Formats: sequence, C-alpha cells, structure tokens
Amino acid sequence: MNPSRLMKALAALAFGIVALAPAQAQNYPTRPIVLVVPFAAGGPTDVVARTLAQAMSKDLGQSVVVENTAGAGGTIAANRVARANPDGYTILIHHNGMASSVGLYRKLSFDPLKDFEYISQVADVPMTLLAKKSMPANNLNELIAYIKANKEKVNLAHAGLGAVSQLCGMLFQKAIGVDITTVPYKGTAPAMTDLLGGQVDILCDQTTQTIPHINAGSVKLYGVTTDKRISALPNAPTLNEAGLKGFQMVVWHGVYAPKGTPKAVQDRLTASVQTALKDADVKRRIAELGSDIVPPEKQTQEGLRTWLKAEIDKWVPLIKAAGQYAD
Ligand code: ASP
Repeated sequence: MNPSRLMKALAALAFGIVALAPAQAQNYPTRPIVLVVPFAAGGPTDVVARTLAQAMSKDLGQSVVVENTAGAGGTIAANRVARANPDGYTILIHHNGMASSVGLYRKLSFDPLKDFEYISQVADVPMTLLAKKSMPANNLNELIAYIKANKEKVNLAHAGLGAVSQLCGMLFQKAIGVDITTVPYKGTAPAMTDLLGGQVDILCDQTTQTIPHINAGSVKLYGVTTDKRISALPNAPTLNEAGLKGFQMVVWHGVYAPKGTPKAVQDRLTASVQTALKDADVKRRIAELGSDIVPPEKQTQEGLRTWLKAEIDKWVPLIKAAGQYAD
C-alpha cells in the first residue's frame, strides 16, 4: 500500500474507533451486566445487591447478574472490578469496607479513590448485636458480664478484615475492654449459619440478614448500632442507650465501575440505580429490612465519591491508631 493510501486507511480506522465508542455507549447495555458482591451469597450485602439488581434489570432491559467474589474482607472483589474491562459490563457493590480497607491493608492491590468511577450510593443499613439462642445473657449488661466471666471460651464470628461485622466486633471488644477469640468467614451468611447452629457465640451483623432470624426468635438480640431505635425492631434498644456510650455504626453502600468506563455508560448506570431506588418493591423490601434508601443527593456520582473520601479520611487514622492490620 502506498503511503497516502495507508494514511487514509489509518485515518478511516481511527475515525471508526472514535465513532464506535459513543455509539456503543448509546446502545448500552446490549448484554447482561455482572454485579460483583464481595461477600457470600445469601448474606446482607447480597440481599441489597439482588434487590437492586432485579429493579435495575427491569430498567436496563438486560439482566444484572449477581456474582459473589468473596474473601479477604471484600478486597478480592474490589480488585477484580478495578481490573475489569471498563465497559460497564462488570460493576461492583461494596460497603464501608471500600474505605476501611485503605487502613487495614498496607499492600492494597487497588486504590479506592483512583481505580473506579463512582455510580451512586444505595442504602444505609443498621447493624444488630446478636448471640446464639442458648446464650444465658438476656440483655447487654448480662452479656458483657458473661463475656468477662468466660473470656477464654466465648468467640465472635465475622466476615474478615474489611467486613463491617469485624469492625463492629472490634469496636465492641474495645468498648467493653475485653479481647475474645474471633472466627472469620467469607461473609456473614455462613457466620449466621454457625450462630444458628450454636458453633459460634456472638455476631454483629446487618439487619438486611438478621431481621428474619430475630423475628423468628432463633437468635438473641442485644441492641442496634444506630443512634435512634429503628421502626423494624421497635423494642430493641440502641447500644448507646443500653450502656455502650457513643457506640454507633451504619453500613452504607456504593455502586462502582472500573476507571475509564465511558461517561455515557456511567450516566446510564446512575440513572438506573436512581430508577431502581424509586421502585415500590425495592422501597418495601429495604424498609422491611430496617434500612433506608439514601436521599437523592447521595444517589449521584459525586455523592458517592465525596462520601467515600470522607469515610477514608475518618476511618484510616482510627484504624492505624488501633494498630490493626490485615497484612
Ligand atoms: N456484609 C457482609 C456480608 O454480606 C459481611 C460484613 O461486611 O460483615 O456477608
């Protein structure tokens, strides 16, 4: 090919690529989207993800398929999505662990503030402090007394360093001044199975999983981690009012796409999350699980990005001061 024909061919190719990118973004999505969940199937994050995915599928006209990539407190899933093709077909839902991992892991294989596009926040979920049904303690003071008297044998389940169950359990131990044995799982779904079976004693876990078990009377409940009582569990005291002054924890959720995802695709995903959060079934399900859909200003790309940054700034110094490392 002579040089000028080669130049023309290259120019045509380049034009084709440039012209194709927005066209692909405009038609998005043309095939199923994978929503990666960093913890085990059937657990609290999985419940939020599947509720959201169902409504997003309706809006996008393509299935949003949940895949559980559990392990290392959620960091394996975040790393997977950070390295995925930035085409909008692999996205992530994650919670506070996206921020706390920055303090917990000295060799984090991704950067939460650089390797993602920020789609939207989703819902805020309270946590509940639970014990197995056969635990003799009937209220928080009795539980603390029981733990102090039996600290050699009592254990606490959690979902790994970076999981909110671990953070809640660590704050609880610090608040009562006792260290107990902890048992890590790949999510609180398997941790809950063992709590129900009596193989582990204590679990701090999100209402998106715990409310049905609390209502069935199959676990003991000592309090909620929010600053006010929640309407789904009106008789449960807050841990603050039960005696752990200042104890407060809420689990927030964000949807992320890999860095470099076309802006039109990001915008389509954000719009789809916003539509899903207005869906009557989503609203009902989130409310019956004791949780709150975030206000509109958090259902934005900026609303997630600024929140994540603020959470990193808040938690990383606290975790470093506690000297708690995962690696
Ligand atoms: N939310 C996690 C799960 O879905 C566990 C955690 O962060 O504690 O299992």
